[in-house]
Amino acid sequence: MEILNNYIDGSWVRSSETNTVDVVNPASQEILGKVPHGNNTFADVDRAVEAASNAFRIWRDVPVMRRVQPLYKLKQLLEENAEDIARTITLECGKTLVESRGEVQRAIENVEVACGTPTLIQSEFSENIAPGIDEFMIRQPLGVCACIAPFNFPGMIPFWFLPYAIACGNAFIIKPSEKVPLTMQKVFHLLDQLDLPKGVINMVHGGKETVDALLEHPEVRAISFVGSTQVAKYIYGKGAANGKRVQAQGGAKNPVVILPDADIEMSVKIITDSVFGCAGQRCLAASNIITVGDNGNIKDALYESARSRTTGYGLDESIEMGPVITADSRSRIEYLIEKGVKEGGNVLLDGRNAKIEGFEKGNFIKPTILEGLPLDGDIIRTEIFGPVMSLIELETVEDALGFINGGRYGNMACLFTSSGANARKFRNQAVAGNIGINIGVAAPMAQFPFSGWNESFFGDLHGQGRHAIEFFTQTKVVIERWPKEWSRKF
Ligand code: NAD
Repeated sequence: MEILNNYIDGSWVRSSETNTVDVVNPASQEILGKVPHGNNTFADVDRAVEAASNAFRIWRDVPVMRRVQPLYKLKQLLEENAEDIARTITLECGKTLVESRGEVQRAIENVEVACGTPTLIQSEFSENIAPGIDEFMIRQPLGVCACIAPFNFPGMIPFWFLPYAIACGNAFIIKPSEKVPLTMQKVFHLLDQLDLPKGVINMVHGGKETVDALLEHPEVRAISFVGSTQVAKYIYGKGAANGKRVQAQGGAKNPVVILPDADIEMSVKIITDSVFGCAGQRCLAASNIITVGDNGNIKDALYESARSRTTGYGLDESIEMGPVITADSRSRIEYLIEKGVKEGGNVLLDGRNAKIEGFEKGNFIKPTILEGLPLDGDIIRTEIFGPVMSLIELETVEDALGFINGGRYGNMACLFTSSGANARKFRNQAVAGNIGINIGVAAPMAQFPFSGWNESFFGDLHGQGRHAIEFFTQTKVVIERWPKEWSRKF
């Protein structure tokens, strides 16, 4: 079985660590590879940072117009290999092939936006702030920057950062999730074909030890993290204490509100796609579905839409939902459903103990719906990160906003309505960084920041777009005096 190599200084190199963990197909339980995991990955990080630091000294002086040229080739390579990458995502992560293809497309869009870095990096100039004196600001790269990625979008999330970081003149290190390292392995075979100086991009495998090595290394200037809130807080605290710039995106518990004037048929389809897409393992998955006032038969329609969703192996193109990532995840989700029942909730649709023919050992949970959870209980505020919808009934839009704004997260909030005034009020008052109006997954396009709030984000500048350009550069202000009397006549 293949032990995955790191990619450092333009070459594939064996890890210093001999301990490994298995990469497992969540549907079939087939072992797909082994990934280095342990204390000796510290040495791997040292090597990668040294290579990146050396590369940075050359790369920072390459003109930005030339720095973006490899990104055009990268877009082409990603497009040519999109199907292969999508299949790898499905193999190791479990989502359906349609979902994996969409993920690769989102990665490509970030490369496209980063191709605009020559314009995005331009800055400000004030002529004559005093007689003969001009002032201007320039943006310079930081140095070695690193990304620590989660399991649920192995092909997309590193691209919220990587293309912008290198276009701005930094050197970059990626640490993929140890649960799904094969997708980035594939992507790095493409990155290897780009005309980049050795060491500009690097990949080190591992888990917590590798992360700690990155957080402690004095030459790592910036950390981009995406994952659970608990780890995001840890990364933000430790990274900042070590003097690094940190952006740390965390977990979520996303509410969706349906008003009586919503288009019910459209809303039901969009909402069930949001809750159960990627088996609920999306940081923008809807979770708490709040009906306001009298919504007729919407509960029956949501039930029917969830019940009829086909669950199975992601490579089978006829299915609509794959497994969850690990057996531990499945147990955790089933435990949380049970806890919801103990708190007083009722299981309207029970997807536990799912058996999929031919994949009996897979980590499958079918769509599940809870209702009647107490509003002051734990489960209604806990990120389940699985295919579970909680139904909540409230009287007014104000009640819904009160409930939403009392939560600890703030990744997304959505409203379904045909009333412009209510939509306007909602987008203004909901405490969340990504708002959907008649949209179920308000995922910002690459030119917009991925704007989590509260405990869904720790930091100032988000991933993607202009925020990424600002995150990966430091500003320098120059004030210059050129008195007229110094001008020479030629
Ligand atoms: P995770 O926090 O368990 O792991 C994320 C990364 O951190 C991995 O690379 C892992 O190796 C590393 N890690 C894990 N434990 C660590 C520790 N104790 N110390 C240092 N590093 C550690 O997250 P996950 O399970 O891979 O991903 C799911 C979570 O990510 C969910 O909570 C989801 O909401 C969140 N997520 C958020 C966004 C967003 O944009 N806000 C996007 C995707 C996923």
